[in-house]
Amino acid sequence: MTSSEIKTHLLIIYTGGTIGMMKDPVSGALVPFDFEHIYDQMPILKNFDFKIDFHSFNPLIDSSNMKPSFWIQLAEIIEAKYELYDGFVVLHGSDTMAYTASALSFMLENLNKPVVFTGSQLPMDVIRTDGRENFLTAIEIAASKEDETSVVPEVCIFFENQLMRGNRTTKFNAERFNAFVSGNYPLLAEVGIHIRYQKNNILKPNFKKLKVHTKLDFNVTILKLFPGISESVVKSTLAIPGLKALILETFGSGNAPTDSWFINCLEEAIKNGLIIYNVTQCKSGSVDIGKYETSLDLGRIGVIGGYDITTESALAKLMYLIGEGYPKERVLELLQTSIRGEMTIE
Ligand code: ASP
Repeated sequence: MTSSEIKTHLLIIYTGGTIGMMKDPVSGALVPFDFEHIYDQMPILKNFDFKIDFHSFNPLIDSSNMKPSFWIQLAEIIEAKYELYDGFVVLHGSDTMAYTASALSFMLENLNKPVVFTGSQLPMDVIRTDGRENFLTAIEIAASKEDETSVVPEVCIFFENQLMRGNRTTKFNAERFNAFVSGNYPLLAEVGIHIRYQKNNILKPNFKKLKVHTKLDFNVTILKLFPGISESVVKSTLAIPGLKALILETFGSGNAPTDSWFINCLEEAIKNGLIIYNVTQCKSGSVDIGKYETSLDLGRIGVIGGYDITTESALAKLMYLIGEGYPKERVLELLQTSIRGEMTIE
């Protein structure tokens, strides 16, 4: 195939993680493999009639070291290369992939091309690796078009045999190849012999110009409730200097202790300007403030319900909305609006 016959151009961005690792023949340790030589390592790539380019992060990181500054770098690479490519595959460690995919979904407004995250539980050179299938299928999804338009023009995660909306995912298994769950949103595609796209579940392209948002505000934290949580834990969290928003990971459908010290602490913090966002600890289902007596007070003092948003997505959304500098009332409104398909409001 001559270069003029190649219609689809993809960019693979390698950030680190198991998928890009191989055992060093000398030391025996896992080291990142050199994508310069990917066609030698995986000659099957030559069978695709796509042009594939590679971009490696420097340094490559285990995704436990992922930071918002890397999200910004990633968004800027996609912005710089957006017009040159039809789709992007991001190779990323699975540990924090759901956070990065959520963040990118907010940072890339008007995305009309696929950004497919994938990774693996076993390195590429292990005989039973899941990386090979994940990588090849992610490439196929990123290249997939219908009437010159990308089939999946959104930030998504492909793992094992499931394509999921990125900002709906959570890593829920540290060992199984099927490592992610999208507890509140159906799959975008199921992969077996065929890639069965569920078109009704996929965001429609709007054909507007990509707008990249990189002004994230990091003054956001998470407080997970547990039976017996003490006043000093709650108070010291609320006393974090400069804190602008707190994700309160509540029980069940948004429930919390009714102790007066607890409610009073939160009420005072809200009066002093803190945004408190109620997100459930459950991997599936929605916050419903007022359903139980144990959430009535949260509603009364001004805690904002996050419906069925994941913690990963809530964190990214708050960093994005506050970073954009919207007035507080607008932030509160958008926290209860689905802006990138990240929550279901019935
Ligand atoms: N610790 C690795 C990472 O998240 C695991 C993986 O790649 O899946 O980078």
